[in-house]
Amino acid sequence: MRAHAADLIGKRLAPAEPRNDGRQTPYRGHPVFVAQHATATCCRGCLAKWHGIAKGHELTADERAYVVGVICDWIAKQLAV
Ligand SMILES: [Zn+2]
Repeated sequence: MRAHAADLIGKRLAPAEPRNDGRQTPYRGHPVFVAQHATATCCRGCLAKWHGIAKGHELTADERAYVVGVICDWIAKQLAV
């Protein structure tokens, strides 16, 4: 799951100007997508607003790891319920 999340983040969220930013994360499908909406990591606008990660630069390794951690924590909590 963690590797999958890292892969999705790297493709959809990490570029400085992601394609379709704000709409790049489907609401259904992969559990990671659901988690992204639940944790405000779905687009760069939400990342900037809720997580203090500015738009307009490519995500660093630390920032990617942080986002993946947030997503995986949320999924782990859902599975524990
Ligand atoms: Zn968003």
